[in-house]
Amino acid sequence: LSTWSAVPAGPPDAILGVTEAFKADKDPRKINLGVGAYRDDQGKPYVLDCVKKAESILEASKPDKEYLPITGHAEFTKNAVKLAYGADSTPLKAGISSTQSISGTGALRIGAAFLARHYPHSKVVYLPSPSWGNHVPIFRDSGFEVRNYTYFDPTTLGLNFEGLKADLLTKAPENSVVLLHACAHNPTGVDPTPEQWAEISDICKERKLFPFFDMAYQGFASGSTSRDAFAVRHFVSQGHQIALCQSFAKNMGLYGERVGAFSLVTADPEEKARVDSQLKIIIRPMYSNPPVHGARIANTILANEDLYTQWEGEVKGMADRIITMREKLHNILTHDLKTPGDWGHIKSQIGMFSFTGLKKAQTVALADKAHVYMTADGRISMAGLNASNIAYFAESVDGAVK
Ligand code: PMP
Repeated sequence: LSTWSAVPAGPPDAILGVTEAFKADKDPRKINLGVGAYRDDQGKPYVLDCVKKAESILEASKPDKEYLPITGHAEFTKNAVKLAYGADSTPLKAGISSTQSISGTGALRIGAAFLARHYPHSKVVYLPSPSWGNHVPIFRDSGFEVRNYTYFDPTTLGLNFEGLKADLLTKAPENSVVLLHACAHNPTGVDPTPEQWAEISDICKERKLFPFFDMAYQGFASGSTSRDAFAVRHFVSQGHQIALCQSFAKNMGLYGERVGAFSLVTADPEEKARVDSQLKIIIRPMYSNPPVHGARIANTILANEDLYTQWEGEVKGMADRIITMREKLHNILTHDLKTPGDWGHIKSQIGMFSFTGLKKAQTVALADKAHVYMTADGRISMAGLNASNIAYFAESVDGAVK
């Protein structure tokens, strides 16, 4: 008998399974809207020009391949944290403990592990319903009990703000950890307004809830990195000691380079030093130290004024193309095809994804009959749409709905 004969087969990943089906389809009209990676208007992966320039600057400097410290490239992390909290943020001077991470996923994992070990209160985390699929296993594997708070309203395809407030006010016990998507909520594309964020901040204060921010899309939602940091900066200005996960996968297109950061607001430099020491103790047995190349690219862009300005333009370019696709899709469905139903949410939702409201059976029919692939919850990646395929996509949706 083999040692592993009792290992049960696990289910395939909900998103990667979509890509497999897409690859197997031979129809030339096929469209993959499952993957959460930006595509240009030709449907091709996009390497930012500022990234290419940063790489040639790096190549010319002939860097070595030595190990980074446990918490990574110190200048990169400093600049990453500045990008998120804002250059004039008070805790930036008083003490933000930070570390480089294996992109946003790694930041979440370090954060969850740190809180599991050192957060002095509950080991219960509240996630929005729904949330990014990987949040549940990340927190569960780190020793948290995972619960949900109301977020999406399936009837309006918008935010159920009353439900959200009620859950945080009455359901979540004091000192629970609350995971908040800083901007461009995945999978729904629905974000609170600045006024709603201010109320959520007040509730967290009143109920002593610990705000744990996941910011995987800074700049990608509105096209402005500072506007997208509103929630994070507001909470910090209100005195919350937040945890923050950052990813440069989307906003710099550095997906496979795995560039991210995790940070915690601490009270003073002495506390920061103690927290720093414990972050190292968590990271060292996980992967020892992070990869160097992507952090060097990101830091070259963040530290160089010209490249930084160019980057901001390119982030805006990606966000604007997505917003244009939202408007086009809305117009074709509503005005050209007069597709039954209200499609306003396509325009009002934010960021990479849209929750279309299509039912599972309709997503199956779209794949089988129209060669259009999306996740079974009806989420589409807006970045997969372009001038050449948007009309065909809209007609296919129209056919599936009618
Ligand atoms: N959080 C959210 C909400 C995400 O959508 C993603 C990417 N899909 C991540 C974190 C982390 O991605 P990565 O590890 O590639 O940075």
